[in-house]
Amino acid sequence: MSSIFTKIVQGEIPCHKIAEDDDFFAFLDINPNAAGHTLCVPKKEVDKLLDLDEATYMGLMAFSRKVGLAIEKAIPCNRVGLTVIGLEVPHVHVHLIPLHSMANATFQNKEKLSPEEFKAIAQKIRANM
Ligand code: 5GP
Repeated sequence: MSSIFTKIVQGEIPCHKIAEDDDFFAFLDINPNAAGHTLCVPKKEVDKLLDLDEATYMGLMAFSRKVGLAIEKAIPCNRVGLTVIGLEVPHVHVHLIPLHSMANATFQNKEKLSPEEFKAIAQKIRANM
């Protein structure tokens, strides 16, 4: 069965898309640590980061860097943090999180956003890609 992120990449589940190329896809996290929290995934469905072939791993990092630079321009924050966990969704994803303080890096505090706020944040990041 396809992962939830494959369904997002294939357009079967809606998302606030940020960017896409032949191999990678970026979209807003549905339950963000902070406004602008974005996930970058390889289109190829692999569970664990270190199981990616080297080219895909390096490509994912380069793609995440581009998206992270756009987040940094779009969202006022101290810096953009990059984390890989993967305990919830078994499809490799890089978390890009605008950090205002350590609290944003803990995955304990979540920010509630309206659909309009998600839409506006995605537009702002996309405009900086
Ligand atoms: P992890 O697997 O790294 O622990 O976390 C998975 C992340 O995916 C979580 O931050 C969660 O909010 C996000 N997530 C889970 N399901 C969905 C979904 O259907 N759409 C979006 N946009 N994000 C999701």
